[in-house]
Amino acid sequence: MALTADPVKPDLELTYVNSMLEGKSALEIIQWGYDTFGGGLAMLSSMQKTASALTHMLYSLGLTDVEIIFIDTQYHFPETLQLRDELIEKYGVNIKTYTPELNPEEQFRKYGRELYLKDGDYQLCCQMRKEEPYLKAAEPFYGFLSGLMRSEGGARKNIPVVAEDPRVNGYKIHPLREMTATDVEEYLKKNNVPVHPLHSRGYPSIGCATCTTPVAPDEDERAGRWRHIREQRGTNEKIYCGINFSDKR
Ligand code: SF4
Repeated sequence: MALTADPVKPDLELTYVNSMLEGKSALEIIQWGYDTFGGGLAMLSSMQKTASALTHMLYSLGLTDVEIIFIDTQYHFPETLQLRDELIEKYGVNIKTYTPELNPEEQFRKYGRELYLKDGDYQLCCQMRKEEPYLKAAEPFYGFLSGLMRSEGGARKNIPVVAEDPRVNGYKIHPLREMTATDVEEYLKKNNVPVHPLHSRGYPSIGCATCTTPVAPDEDERAGRWRHIREQRGTNEKIYCGINFSDKR
């Protein structure tokens, strides 16, 4: 099916939609998203395992025209950009890269310091380098496939299949909602899908190189994200960048 040029936001009755999609497979939910939103469907990719799985699912359904939004914060590991290129090459998927308004040097000059280093500053860095480019990229779309899973816990443990996201004037769709990290792992292995090479080097969760460290075997999967900020706060509370509306920063 060719995508429509001027998508319109569907008016969804979420209680009905969520009960209708309850128990459906990830592929069925993605297909529903495509049938419902047409050219207004996009996916947000973090280039982590869940994004690799969703990317492969789009490919296997023949939906390679769906735009996959990738925000290049310009602080990524080189391996993150290599994975993006590999997925495009292998599956012919429509990954589009968006960048922040200021490059890192311009940001440093404007603020006189590296914002990612300190609590109270890093939030602005995430806002400018992730959130703002994402919101801009999201403007033409109304439905957004996202790799969040309830099994991740924290703010994610109660996500519905489809949720309204007022920031993007649309809906987030969570096809992997009922899956676990093990389910995703098995899917990727079975289908020989490329994954971020740092996952096998002690990085279960990967963001900007500046704000991601490896984790010890006995640590939480997100312990390597903003470790320096959690140390400043003296807490083990999970931190998120705020690009996902359902998360708390
Ligand atoms: S993760 Fe760190 S470097 Fe990346 S945008 Fe957020 S604060 Fe800035």
